[in-house]
Amino acid sequence: MPPSAEFPINILGISSMLLIISLSFILMLKSQRIQQLSQTMRYLKKSLEEMDEQAKLIVRTDLKLNKAQEELDKRVNGLYAMQRISQELSKTLNQDEIFRRINQEHITNIGFQKAIIVAKNVQGTLQIRHSTGFNEEETSYIEAGLIEKGIYAMVKEYNSTFSSISEADTLRKAKHIITAITHLDSFVLSPISKKDGYYGFILLSNSSAETLVSEGDEELVAILATHIGQALDNAELFEATYSQHQELERNVLARTKELSDALNEINVISKRKTDFVSAVSHELRTPLTSIKGYASILLSEKLGVIPEPVKERLGKINKHSDELTRLVNDLLDIARIESGRFEMKSELFDIRHAVETTIDLLSPQLKEKSITATMNLPQNLSLALADKTQISRVFINLMGNAIKFVPEKTGLISVSAFESTDTIQITISDNGIGMSPTDTEHIFDEFYRVDNDINQKVKGTGLGLTLVKNIIRAHKGRIWVASRLNQGSAFSFTLPKAAQTPLESAKNT
Ligand code: ADP
Repeated sequence: MPPSAEFPINILGISSMLLIISLSFILMLKSQRIQQLSQTMRYLKKSLEEMDEQAKLIVRTDLKLNKAQEELDKRVNGLYAMQRISQELSKTLNQDEIFRRINQEHITNIGFQKAIIVAKNVQGTLQIRHSTGFNEEETSYIEAGLIEKGIYAMVKEYNSTFSSISEADTLRKAKHIITAITHLDSFVLSPISKKDGYYGFILLSNSSAETLVSEGDEELVAILATHIGQALDNAELFEATYSQHQELERNVLARTKELSDALNEINVISKRKTDFVSAVSHELRTPLTSIKGYASILLSEKLGVIPEPVKERLGKINKHSDELTRLVNDLLDIARIESGRFEMKSELFDIRHAVETTIDLLSPQLKEKSITATMNLPQNLSLALADKTQISRVFINLMGNAIKFVPEKTGLISVSAFESTDTIQITISDNGIGMSPTDTEHIFDEFYRVDNDINQKVKGTGLGLTLVKNIIRAHKGRIWVASRLNQGSAFSFTLPKAAQTPLESAKNT
């Protein structure tokens, strides 16, 4: 075989081989590519399925979010409405008014259409205290039904808010009764409690079953029930405080009347006493005058000489009738001033002059005890407006007492004065035996005398200070004493001040 003929055959064979190899290689590559593509396809399909799931989830979440938003809006609105109801409730302190203030608008604003409040009234009878959204006929039918079926007691026992969607087994009967009687498929019921316990309940509802209640509604109605309970507590507290106040006022009025009656009675008795003392004193004066007169005539021996022992006894009769006359006169003056029959003169009264005169008048007693009385009066002391004769009696009484109760030789008596805008205060103080607090309390009472050594020796009536007190009071002044046992006493009194100064008065006279 010639090489030239073999050569093309070989070339063809080789080429074919190469072609086959190339094709196989290409095929292999293609198949690999196809495998890769189908894998990618599978992957893409899975991704698509996942994306679809996620899209569905997003839609579901979005729906849920919208619902939650709606619920949230409803609750926020409900809470706003609740705040307004709460404000309304806090404006009244009357129990019935509290119920009346929960009106249809409030109920609508918290997302309901109808409301009923059941509670016991003052007589303890169960009744519907308030209803909105029901007509009268429905209200009385529901009232009768709820009471008859014992809903009040069931709510009391369950003691918590529940609604038509509550699932507790214990509520099945109560829910069934409420739906049957009220024809309400959708409702929330919450017990109302006061400080002293369960009071009643509030029932809120929607007339159609489509408007389903939610847990948020239950919370809202529970808040409303709490507010009503608090408002009722406040009203009750107010009523209790008010009635206590009224009671107190009635007691005060009754007590005031009792006191005023007692005062009137005292005044009547006091007037009777004054009239009696006055009448007796008057009656005593005439025989006393004649006793004293006869004693004086006999003592003067104009009717004949009398033996010495008789003279001595007549002297005693004379002295005692003088004392008795003074007592009767004091009693008469006290009675006259007390009854207002004695009119005090309003004269310009020079205190310094009055004190000097009194010291002068009492100088024998001062000398007898070897003591002196001093005057501490301010220069240009204003004049007082007073009855000269009567205020002189006051000075004589108070200074006379001071002399009586200070010790001999070491006794000190001083008269001082101090003036304010309208009054002059005069104080007569001494370092005498003083008095206990119990005695100072009664010192101005009629016939009161302290039980001490001096009083047992020196006679007295216990009328002097009563007279002094009456004279000062008749001048619209005050009188009081500050005293300490064994240390001394200070009697003070006030007199009205005259507009004129002593100098002006001297010029006028
Ligand atoms: P009398 O002087 O007639 O007893 P008074 O009414 O003047 O009556 O006084 C009543 C009593 O007050 C006196 O008995 C005396 O015990 C007491 N008393 C009055 N002034 C003083 C005084 N300056 N110091 C102590 N006791 C006094």
